[in-house]
Amino acid sequence: MEKQKSRKVGLFGGTFDPIHLGHLLTVNHVRQRVGLDSVHLVPAARPVHRSQPVASEQHRMEMVRLAVDDFPGLVADDRELRRQGKSYSIDTICSLRLDYPDVRFALIVGMDQALAFDSWHRWEEILDQVDLIVMQRPDTLAPESKPGWWQEREADDLSMPRRAAKVIIIVPVPQLWISGTALRRAISRGDNLSHQLTPGVLNYINQFNLYRFNQMEHL
Ligand code: ATP
Repeated sequence: MEKQKSRKVGLFGGTFDPIHLGHLLTVNHVRQRVGLDSVHLVPAARPVHRSQPVASEQHRMEMVRLAVDDFPGLVADDRELRRQGKSYSIDTICSLRLDYPDVRFALIVGMDQALAFDSWHRWEEILDQVDLIVMQRPDTLAPESKPGWWQEREADDLSMPRRAAKVIIIVPVPQLWISGTALRRAISRGDNLSHQLTPGVLNYINQFNLYRFNQMEHL
């Protein structure tokens, strides 16, 4: 009998305030390039490394749900919003592994996040439990000398071969000049943003009048 291929699933967290095509096209590119069966998009309730979001948890989650309708293979996952306290990646990973014991998970992060990875809460446990996919945009260089923990795990193979030890791979991604901060400012000015958001997310923002209030310091 043919052995069943193990499933490989990505995990991509963010504030998604709002989710935009910079997130969606990039992560979808990674999914196809690495051959992930799906990628879970997990909005953070109380992000640890940055300022707190502008839109409510419910609005951010609903926008992620609407966005993935246009991207088969991307999954909206509300597990961090259902949990109390700070949004630590290690807790999310443990919860996913409990729900999907047969899946091989890969955490997808930007190069900037990867470079500071050893400051993350329980980072060594994360590296023991999941592969790390580091997205490299054309404007970011890989570090000249990588720390030992990175070198030990680095692999070239984008197909993530079946092996017990977890690997770190770098995946080049296209440059999309879209940022949440710039988007929120543009929405408050009433700019046309149809090239940066999916139609469903754009309608939702208009319907609930999100990001429109005139308090630029919060945007
Ligand atoms: P903000 O300006 O509010 O920080 P953001 O979109 O950068 O917005 P998040 O929603 O937290 O912030 O982003 C989640 C992840 O997506 C982060 O790892 C971030 O680096 C990455 N990301 C954001 N924009 C892009 C983009 N245009 N291309 C690729 N990755 C992106």
